[in-house]
Amino acid sequence: MSTQQSRNPVGSHVPVAGGLASVGLSYARDLAAETVQVFVANPRGWATPQGNPRQDEEFRAACAAGSIPAYVHAPYLINLGSHTEATVVRSVESLRHSLRRGRAIGARGVVVHTGSATGGRTRAVALKQVREHLLPLLDELTHDDPDLLIESTAGQGASLCSRTWDFGPYFEALDAHPKLGVCLDTCHIFAAGHDLTGPAGTHQTLDLLVDTIGEGRLKLIHANDSQDVVGAHKDRHANIGAGHIGEDPFRALMTHPATENVPLIIETPGGKEGHAADVERLKKLRDG
Ligand SMILES: [Zn+2]
Repeated sequence: MSTQQSRNPVGSHVPVAGGLASVGLSYARDLAAETVQVFVANPRGWATPQGNPRQDEEFRAACAAGSIPAYVHAPYLINLGSHTEATVVRSVESLRHSLRRGRAIGARGVVVHTGSATGGRTRAVALKQVREHLLPLLDELTHDDPDLLIESTAGQGASLCSRTWDFGPYFEALDAHPKLGVCLDTCHIFAAGHDLTGPAGTHQTLDLLVDTIGEGRLKLIHANDSQDVVGAHKDRHANIGAGHIGEDPFRALMTHPATENVPLIIETPGGKEGHAADVERLKKLRDG
């Protein structure tokens, strides 16, 4: 793996069943990944498994030695805007677990979806609840802990955050906490209605994002093409260049000032071969 940091390290979400280091990092090596993202729990469940201390240490040491920024993606079920109390309680436990495990493996950030206002409640009520439960979690984080990176969705249902400006009320609800950052998913933002194509589409979208969240808050990019057209509100990732976004916006993405030193992680289909091809394609777009 590379020891020299590029402007935008390019890597992938990697499977870790069987060992965070022994499986996850060897997969990353096969892709020539410069950054990695992992799950530390079943993404579709509420379990909060303990890690394996030896795998944790090996993972952390290898990432540090190879200057590989690592990220954790928290489970999908987490929704701090839910009107169901049991879901909120489990969401807090699950997210606290991902943050704790993130620290144990040396992750720079833990990505969590922004959630939705279920049960017909207003966004304002749901955001008040987000504040009540998320602010204490943010306050628990020290300098050495990962940042909490909120990821907007494709805008399905009563999503709390899908357009760039939706991050405004979310940041406000969390007092723009210093440990708060943003993970921008290109498929989600496109599906939510921001056209990244055309000569200025990507830069305009990033400008809008920075107008809302300020400089230095964009910490990670999920680089995914979209199987659906702009504004479709569907979350179906495609391989880079094979969807409705196309290659050019990814090239443009890596030239905007807001993405300086921000890693790109792919979450695309096609298994290991598909991932290797996407990582290679993004590096080519970056390096010219
Ligand atoms: Zn994503």
